Amino acid sequence: MDLQKLTARLSNHIFLDGELKSPCAAETLAVISPIDSQRIATIPLCNNEDVNVVVESSKRAQIEWAQTSNQKRASILKQCGLALKEHAEELAQLMSLETGKAISTESRLEVKSIEEIFDYYAGLALEIKGETIPFDPNVVALTMREPFGVVGAIIPWNVPLMLMAVKIAPALVTGNTVVLKASPEATLTVLRAAEIMGKILPKGVLNILTGDGPGTGASLVNHSDVAKVTFTGSVEGGIDVYKNAAAKLIPVTLELGGKSPFIIYPDADLDRAVNDAIIGMRFTRQGQSCSAASRLFLHTKIYDTFLEKMKIQLAKMKVGHPLKEETDIGSIISKKQYLKILDFIKLAKEDPNLDVCEIGKLLEDISIKDGFYILPTLITGITNTHAICQKEIFGPVVCIISWQDEEEVLKEANDTKYGLAAAVWTKDITTALRAVKRLDAGFVQINQYNMFKAGIAFGGFKSSGLGKEASKNSMIENFTREKLILINIM
Ligand code: NAD
Repeated sequence: MDLQKLTARLSNHIFLDGELKSPCAAETLAVISPIDSQRIATIPLCNNEDVNVVVESSKRAQIEWAQTSNQKRASILKQCGLALKEHAEELAQLMSLETGKAISTESRLEVKSIEEIFDYYAGLALEIKGETIPFDPNVVALTMREPFGVVGAIIPWNVPLMLMAVKIAPALVTGNTVVLKASPEATLTVLRAAEIMGKILPKGVLNILTGDGPGTGASLVNHSDVAKVTFTGSVEGGIDVYKNAAAKLIPVTLELGGKSPFIIYPDADLDRAVNDAIIGMRFTRQGQSCSAASRLFLHTKIYDTFLEKMKIQLAKMKVGHPLKEETDIGSIISKKQYLKILDFIKLAKEDPNLDVCEIGKLLEDISIKDGFYILPTLITGITNTHAICQKEIFGPVVCIISWQDEEEVLKEANDTKYGLAAAVWTKDITTALRAVKRLDAGFVQINQYNMFKAGIAFGGFKSSGLGKEASKNSMIENFTREKLILINIM
């Protein structure tokens, strides 16, 4: 596959009315591959005019799309899933080139998850229904669920295709049309996926804007014809979106950051827990996961054994060129993010109370000398109040905190502004459930971690967001409004 030709063809386009089109905006943003700092494309920095044109197209398309039967919409979604599957390898390679995610451990698996997401929502098409309310014998009261209209969807770069699917599939099956604003760091993969779906979806049902957050993203949220916004990204971005949406009084769903605790009790199955701590920290995605298990609470009785086992496993992980099959861990998304992570590591190294262990193998490869690679990093000797334990690093850095007292560890686990995910490892179910009831997180797992599947209600508490996604209830709540109808039968 000629990735160079593909990126050149996608360059300088938005996706509008079923095809790649030139934007109104003359300004562009460079797409730099984090593999080697090479410029691989430019994307439009869409302005208000682009937002107007794109939203207008989605508004036009929505009238007929809402009139299309639910079964037909479901069948179209399924076809989209299949079409993307046919292009799976191309999409995976493009994603690795653009985002630095390792092809064998990340990009292929992400592309594979999309068909499942489309299938799941296609299967829910007949569940978009109201209810009857027996409140008066002379009145038939019923509700119906109807689409909002044009949905504005804004996504980050860390899992661009999965999040694209999680946003557009439920929005489309419920009869909305979608304007999706891709992240400037992961635009090309999203554009190519839209182009593939564009052969199946009616024109204007899905449009893609490219550009930045405060400019293009905010302009989309502020557009008077955007009736609902679903946003995944940072807390700061989410707050901004929430404020802008409030000024228009439109509903929003926010899926934001995290600093998730992973608590190991002394009776835990250590081999499984070590394995899941590594998977849960998403080292294969360079730690760039909202639910990364970035605070590891180890009971003092198993502290040394656990750490030793973890280091043995991590030492086998290979960091290198994302497009090479042997690579487990690719590159950090951008120079900005790379420097931010290095700053946290430097802060830890400068603190005499902390120990910093960088582990794993950086594969020798001259072609990636200008890329952004960081080894898995373990910080020990740290306490939960330290800035490194409180801030989302979004890199391969895990804080390891020892504990002895259950009351204390649960308090510390909850002591961050976030509340996305958590894990408890113990063989005693009463201990586990006691902890689950106390943990202030939207998604808690016992003796496992990182099970993301279509059908679960994913979403955080506190600063980690507002609302859930990826479930039937959240589809109804996020993408439909309820209309009450009263019929007098006297
Ligand atoms: P970001 O907030 O910088 O950007 C996310 C998206 O929002 C991008 O498309 C960006 O252009 C846009 N944006 C930014 N500011 C905006 C604004 N003021 N108005 C409108 N749009 C705006 O986040 P990022 O760096 O791309 O992604 C990393 C963050 O995403 C992390 O905090 C991570 O935890 C979070 N995340 C959360 C989930 C979840 O499901 N909870 C999943 C993945 C990532």
